[in-house]
Amino acid sequence: MLTHRPVPFGGQPVTAAVMATYDRYDVAFEHGEGAYLYATDGRRFLDFGGGVAVTSLGHCHPHLVEALTDQAGRVWHTSNLYHIPQQQRLAERLVAATFADRAFFCNSGAEAVECSLKMARRFHDRNGAPERYRVITCAGGFHGRTLATIAAGASAKMLDGFDPVVEGFDQVPFGNLNELRAAVGPETAAILVEPIQGEGGINAATVDFLKGLRAVADEFGLLLIFDEVQCGIGRTGRLFAHEWAGIAPDAMAVAKGLGGGFPIGTCLATEEAAAALTPGSHGSTFGGNPLATAVGNAVLDVVLAEGFLDHVRAVGEDFGDRLAEIARKHPDVVAEARGFGLMRGLKCVVENKALIARLIEGGLLSVPAADNVVRLLPPLIIETAQVDEAAAIIDAACAALAAEAA
Ligand SMILES: *Cc1c(COP(=O)(O)O)cnc(C)c1O
Repeated sequence: MLTHRPVPFGGQPVTAAVMATYDRYDVAFEHGEGAYLYATDGRRFLDFGGGVAVTSLGHCHPHLVEALTDQAGRVWHTSNLYHIPQQQRLAERLVAATFADRAFFCNSGAEAVECSLKMARRFHDRNGAPERYRVITCAGGFHGRTLATIAAGASAKMLDGFDPVVEGFDQVPFGNLNELRAAVGPETAAILVEPIQGEGGINAATVDFLKGLRAVADEFGLLLIFDEVQCGIGRTGRLFAHEWAGIAPDAMAVAKGLGGGFPIGTCLATEEAAAALTPGSHGSTFGGNPLATAVGNAVLDVVLAEGFLDHVRAVGEDFGDRLAEIARKHPDVVAEARGFGLMRGLKCVVENKALIARLIEGGLLSVPAADNVVRLLPPLIIETAQVDEAAAIIDAACAALAAEAA
């Protein structure tokens, strides 16, 4: 069922052969280049949705295309029964660039979170406290769509019809350290938090909250797990968002931007936490295969290059200023501009999907989020010219919606 057809694109016929789990916009794309996507009907779009924060380096980045096609001509998949040199290299580079000592590779964000949850349970089990299995998460959080990760997220909509809920998750309000501390009990194993909630509506944790989480985890011997599936890989102008707070987790889930569009996920962890996962205790058939990790390495080549994150910070600040200006100018349409770097949100006064539809008409792709927010997740390679172009489209869309409402 299509509940929002923003524009009569005359696009794709809807087929019943695909399960009806998504509402889709009535457009399909034929090719992409950098920050732009070209629809099958010839229209050009500035892509500030990025396939939900995935195409971190834009479409068909030459270095990624080369890495993928080069690897495609050698070997695609061998399984983790054997050494995978590209996987080893990616692990070593991620370890060198972060708090982590070890990486486990999988294929999606949910699997990366799942690995961290299994790690937390086994960590306490191996340390003589098998009764510690509960995980504290935050309201508005999103961690994936498996049975365990919908329980971690606790969105009523995502849990509806999937009872019984996987046991062992306790939700507290996002940002409230007192309530979080009060939720710790003798069965608590870990805290799982997104430093910036994406699906929840671009809600950034404060530095004090993140530091407080580290302190609580240390005080009670809990694993602190960050879900940086969306806010990681340079999106905030640091390789990982938690770096802004000057603290580190014990484990972290990463996916989306790491593959730039190729499916890959990883759970990074300290030696102490990772030691819980011994041979045979966890695995993935596809995880860390040569194709995925060749692309992951190519993404890191770009993101870790000297000056790249400085660029993200500069263009991200510029983008933030432009959005704040738009919010001030159109208070009947936009209540607030939020976010960091190139992870931005507009909290709407009008229905967020009404603004998204207008933006599509104007040639700009964005993503809806909870809390009536429009998410803007441009590729990290954008330049000021594209910020200007997007700002002009958003400004015009807001003006049109304001005129409609008046
Ligand atoms: C997208 C997302 C996930 C789930 O990732 P999938 O690849 O869809 O399984 C988990 N956590 C966060 C923060 C996300 O944004």
